[in-house]
Amino acid sequence: MNDLLLERIAHEFGTPCYVYDLDQISHQVDVLREALTGARLFYAVKANPCGAILKNLATKDVGAEVISMGELERAVHAGIKPENIVLGGPRQDTQLIGRALDLGVRLFSIDSVSQWESWKPFLRADLYFVLRVNPALDPRTHEHLATGAAESKFGLTFAETRVLASEVQAHAQLAGFHVHAGSQITATEVYDEIFEVLEPLYNENPNCRYLDIGGGYGVPGFELEAFRQRVLAFAQKFELQVILEPGRFLVAEAGVLLTSVLHHKAGALHHIIADAGMADLLRPALYGAKHPIRVLHHAPAKLLADVDGPLCENADRLARNVNLPELKGGEILVVEQAGAYGFAMSSNYASSYRPAEVVIQGGQYRLARQRESLSDLIRLELL
Ligand SMILES: *Cc1c(COP(=O)(O)O)cnc(C)c1O
Repeated sequence: MNDLLLERIAHEFGTPCYVYDLDQISHQVDVLREALTGARLFYAVKANPCGAILKNLATKDVGAEVISMGELERAVHAGIKPENIVLGGPRQDTQLIGRALDLGVRLFSIDSVSQWESWKPFLRADLYFVLRVNPALDPRTHEHLATGAAESKFGLTFAETRVLASEVQAHAQLAGFHVHAGSQITATEVYDEIFEVLEPLYNENPNCRYLDIGGGYGVPGFELEAFRQRVLAFAQKFELQVILEPGRFLVAEAGVLLTSVLHHKAGALHHIIADAGMADLLRPALYGAKHPIRVLHHAPAKLLADVDGPLCENADRLARNVNLPELKGGEILVVEQAGAYGFAMSSNYASSYRPAEVVIQGGQYRLARQRESLSDLIRLELL
């Protein structure tokens, strides 16, 4: 993103502030569509539920993958058509199921046998289900992101999947099988293991038309070409339409977090205290995620410092060992690759006001969400 534009945004809307480039998100959509022609795209809303992003994706006919009432309502509110929504995830209680059906959602991913029991009163011939299989493999990613490991809470065991496959076909449509093996996957061999698990299921259920291969494509470093070849080979073998559920891949690199330097402390280590921390961007504290950080307008590096947040918490840190120029305070830092699971995981911890969100499109910027204020913090309180 253009530094002059980022500087204007920081001055106009203050910091901390998230900035998303909608054109870059659209470009990522095109990249996936070109790689896997004919695939259906369902954006994983949890990566970044910003209404301006959802609305922009709706205009590109991208669907949504939702797992909660809030995501479902938000996606529809932003203009994503219910027939372009897949509801999945561990929740799916009767309230969520009922609302999704009322809105016109017709595609669902079943995550557990107990969930299937909740579904029984609602079953009809025009509802389509994919069964989420737990592939019981090592997705070679951070423990918190390893949804495909046997010990994780996600998906059905292979044996359960077999039983449910015939039950679904007796009462509704079995669209296919679903694997979301983890997030931030870069080792594409993982997909070979997934297809080994799925092969017998598709052999046993030749009526299936879809392959839902989930999301989780790592940023940076996902080998899209290797992924493409593996997915297409499997899909062609069984004549399946591919369903993709990208979250991070569409938005991570299209977003930055702007934060201002408050103080510089030189003790055993240099610490730059910024006005954004774990309440605004939790990933470094939660996963040890590494975000590149730079100063707006290039200047030669002079010191190696931790960039910390403003809260009283040792985990309140944005990055360790960052090369930075001499900083006096007031400079603006750009935290890169912050478009996914950034604002989405932000909180009001320590009564922090959540940051403003700004979007850029066609070289123009506009405020997409105001910075919170006291009234947002106390709005629901009854004193
Ligand atoms: C989180 C999630 C995704 C998206 O994951 P990314 O790593 O953001 O691509 C896709 N599908 C399911 C079922 C998920 O839970």
